Amino acid sequence: MSGKVYLVGAGPGAPDLLTLRAARLLAEADVVLHDALVHPETLALAARAEQVAVGKRCGHQSSAQRFINKRLVDAARRHRVVVRLKGGDPMLFGRAQEEIAALEKAGIEYEVVPGVTAALAAAADLGISLTQRGVARSVAFVTPRVGEGEAPSGWAHAVAAADTAVIYMGAGEAARVRDALLEAGVAPDMPVALVESASLEDSRTTAGTLVGLESLVETRGAGPAVILLGRTFAAAVSQRDFVERPQVIEAIAS
Ligand code: SAH
Repeated sequence: MSGKVYLVGAGPGAPDLLTLRAARLLAEADVVLHDALVHPETLALAARAEQVAVGKRCGHQSSAQRFINKRLVDAARRHRVVVRLKGGDPMLFGRAQEEIAALEKAGIEYEVVPGVTAALAAAADLGISLTQRGVARSVAFVTPRVGEGEAPSGWAHAVAAADTAVIYMGAGEAARVRDALLEAGVAPDMPVALVESASLEDSRTTAGTLVGLESLVETRGAGPAVILLGRTFAAAVSQRDFVERPQVIEAIAS
């Protein structure tokens, strides 16, 4: 008799952005396999569980993913309630499908619990709607990251076709992102915003335009960051204090 695996979204960082369902499952869990970025206060909710850190910050190698799949299956064979806790929402850039496939293959019951994805926490921090009326009616969530052996992706064209785009896992390669977007036909003066550590106390927000993306990204610290792009972010660009917020200046100086 196997237990059940819950693929649970931990939200973008702030522990109180967890869903009530996630909090209840953490309290019931026998074992929690979690990503590296999960907040210690969130993990503290799993008081009676064995806690295992799995997964790397920026996407894992396929061998590491196979290892996680195996650990999940093994854990379900030994425990009643297994929580696989993933940053943001499990179904967005979280490799949930590979874990689901492994669980299905092993005949293990599972359930997915959604979480607040980074894009939504970033929009909240900016105070700018991703679908501002009259300006943006479509939103694309994309990543320039393509795994080994995967087919090339049309992510830049998806960004060009959408009114608003949120780019995950792109801040580390800003020059490539900028070049690909310009080539796909995005205007050089397209407003962009960078939100780092969205929802957390040390969240940082800067804004500029696509041509200046590289220098914008240079100001970032070590936290995870999303790039947001679209006319709706013009407000962020025109508010000079966004680029010159005291905590940003402090961070650059230190
Ligand atoms: N499943 C997650 C995304 C995982 S991919 C979700 O739904 O949010 C990891 C990427 O998410 C990071 O490289 C970064 O681009 C983004 N990210 C995660 N947490 C973030 C945060 N608090 N602030 C800004 N970006 C974040």
